[in-house]
Amino acid sequence: MGIVYKKYLQVENGEKILVCNTCKTHFATYEHILSKQFFGQYGKAYLFSNVINVYTGEAEDRTMRTGRHTVQDIHCAECSTVVGWKYLVAYEPTERYKEGHFILERTLLNHVQM
Ligand SMILES: [Zn+2]
Repeated sequence: MGIVYKKYLQVENGEKILVCNTCKTHFATYEHILSKQFFGQYGKAYLFSNVINVYTGEAEDRTMRTGRHTVQDIHCAECSTVVGWKYLVAYEPTERYKEGHFILERTLLNHVQM
């Protein structure tokens, strides 16, 4: 895996950011949320355009309600908790907008206000 350098999000005062519920590592801002209409293993999940301080696992094919996708689990860089997944390939043309984007499970997130 190599060394993961922990980064911090640059945000305005008062802006909320999404962090790891276990270790409070920064993941994303609310502006990175593309959709809140997703479901993960534990319930509600959000689709993000970008997430920082995570590393990816092995690529594998999974069949979801919206068809077959190649995905990688994403782990928190600090505590290694699996917090969601990244879409690499969507086989259904209507699902291609997800490619390269990230799902984070709502229940595994917390937020802090800067
Ligand atoms: Zn963590």
